[in-house]
Amino acid sequence: MAAIRKKLLGWYDEAARDLPWRRTRDPYAIWVSEIMLQQTRVDTVIPYYERFLTSFPNPRALADADEDAVLSHWSGLGYYRRARLLHAGVREVVAQYDGEVPEDAEARRALPGVGPYTAGAIGSIAFEKEEPIVDGNVTRVLARLFRIDTPVGASVTSKRVWEEAARLVPGVRPGAFNQALMELGATVCTPKQPKCESCPLLDDCLARAHGEVDTLPVPRPRKSPTQVKLAAVVATQGRGRDQRVWLLRSEQSLFAGLWGLPMTPRSRFDAHDARGALRDAGISASLGRESIGRLDHLLSHRRMQIDVFRATAAKAESSETRRLFRLDELGSVGISTLTQKLLSVAFS
Ligand code: SF4
Repeated sequence: MAAIRKKLLGWYDEAARDLPWRRTRDPYAIWVSEIMLQQTRVDTVIPYYERFLTSFPNPRALADADEDAVLSHWSGLGYYRRARLLHAGVREVVAQYDGEVPEDAEARRALPGVGPYTAGAIGSIAFEKEEPIVDGNVTRVLARLFRIDTPVGASVTSKRVWEEAARLVPGVRPGAFNQALMELGATVCTPKQPKCESCPLLDDCLARAHGEVDTLPVPRPRKSPTQVKLAAVVATQGRGRDQRVWLLRSEQSLFAGLWGLPMTPRSRFDAHDARGALRDAGISASLGRESIGRLDHLLSHRRMQIDVFRATAAKAESSETRRLFRLDELGSVGISTLTQKLLSVAFS
């Protein structure tokens, strides 16, 4: 283990990419970066991370912000539940720990939205604790390095990978070591065509020795996406520059807290469903008979086909969950990428 650590740290010191969150040891900034990086590419995260920390430079600033402001900084990044949990976790840090992210591992793991991965990342990178972390990149590297041949996602695999990560982390610079493992997975030990010839662990790698690099890790069984047909309505009031659009605050777990269009599953191929969506939303309006466009969108294993309808002279009572927005306001409220695309069908 010591030899693997030494080679990997030596390689990391030479090869690490210069990323904004690697220039800080601030546990709050590292927390923000780790939450944003879950299921999102580094290039995508960088501008969001910088904008987020400019607006909310410390836990108190984020704790004081309202949810709309937080979600608007997350608009387009997806997986909005992450933002709400980060917000809740940071509020707890302010309420319980005077705004200081706790060094104690148990206290960190008890925060909302902080699982073993995030707790380990903050612990090792900010506080130099010998805590392991396992993400998709680490799983791939360790499955190849130690020839773990059970499927990704199975509990036996997860247990083994965490055990190997925990065996590797003790020693000097645990934070750098954890980042080195992730960096190797991101840049060298990639899912397809890993660059084994330039890998610092070439001589230690069991998958390489057994010619199993292409077959490890064993992928998790794939579920084919469910097809869903929906109707969405862009219901507006006014014309030209005075035009405004009704949006509803979603309660669906995937989009909870975000603003979106009235939407309903489709059962027929005329405006019947769209009329139902308006009725359920409590909006009366003059609805077009034909859809104005169709959008295909893949979301969390659901392949959505959405017919967009247009309604004008739309009226309703404003409430906490139903509001009229000016078109130029939409950039500063929390709306999902899906809603942005649906609106562009009507307004582009
Ligand atoms: S030798 Fe190849 S498969 Fe093994 S850890 Fe390095 S890059 Fe991954």
